[in-house]
Amino acid sequence: MHKFLKSLVPVALLAVAAAAGAQGFPVKDKVITLVVPFAAGGPTDRVARDLAEAMRKPMGGGTIVVDNAAGAGGSIGANKVAKAPADGYTLLVHHIGMATMPTLVRNIPFKVESDFEYVGLVNDVPMTLISRPSLAANNYKELVSWIGANKGKVNLANAGVGSASHLCGMLFQSAPKEDMTTVPYKGTGPAMTDLIAGQVDIMCDQTTNTTAQIEGKKVKAFAVSSPKRLTTPALKDLPTLDEAGLKGFNVSIFHGLYAPKGTPPAVIAKLNDALKVALKDPEFIKKQEGLGAVVVNDKRMEPAEHKRFVAAEIAKWSPVIKAAGVYVD
Ligand code: ASP
Repeated sequence: MHKFLKSLVPVALLAVAAAAGAQGFPVKDKVITLVVPFAAGGPTDRVARDLAEAMRKPMGGGTIVVDNAAGAGGSIGANKVAKAPADGYTLLVHHIGMATMPTLVRNIPFKVESDFEYVGLVNDVPMTLISRPSLAANNYKELVSWIGANKGKVNLANAGVGSASHLCGMLFQSAPKEDMTTVPYKGTGPAMTDLIAGQVDIMCDQTTNTTAQIEGKKVKAFAVSSPKRLTTPALKDLPTLDEAGLKGFNVSIFHGLYAPKGTPPAVIAKLNDALKVALKDPEFIKKQEGLGAVVVNDKRMEPAEHKRFVAAEIAKWSPVIKAAGVYVD
């Protein structure tokens, strides 16, 4: 065989193998599972359920279920998907934890950058600083004074080390410079139930989980984590944390879709096509925007850009986390 043709054979075989891997994907009666690494009823669960609904039709109308594999700040669910068969039927919806876990948790049993195929980014979500309804403070300044007056007694709920609420709470804590007792939950869904009931004092959580509770006056709200005020009616009067005194505070939580490493490129392309249909779906956009989230409408909806973005977020948060000196083994 000619030398040039010979060198082409393995490439051609690879292409055939990739196409074969996607043949018939998804098989109509085979269930697709979206693993959510946090408890039901929280912000990641919410985006995953809305996404499952919006991706169902472009995926051929089969069943897409959500599996809440919660615990360890999101690393249990992520590990489950990293070790799942690379066939496109087990996927992960995860958030900024993909960028913070590698620095926050020293011994995570998977590698964010090499154990997954990146399908595309889904949304960006600001956070809100909230408290139990009975807490004796009505604005950020009063909250800081209250924390100072209750030294050693204040507790801060989060969804575990590596979660968004952990990151935001950790950055917030550095301002009043008071050590608060952290109360970890399997997700901010159950943490919210305890906050409303007055069992815990403070939490920093995504607007997708807090907007309705703020609107219904079930919790008190003090500030938003974005650099600009939000336009969502229930949140538009809240100051930014930067305005409130935490200069430069800017935490935005992204969610993305991932598959196990080795999932055939044609399967990833099919998932990405369905994701892009979902990201343009007016119903999906309306639901997400109503909760203060911004549906991705830029090149980060492409797998390569999604991967580049997460790598940039790892580089951005790693020095911040190291400077705060918080690690878990
Ligand atoms: N995303 C988590 C959840 O869905 C919350 C967090 O990361 O703070 O519960």
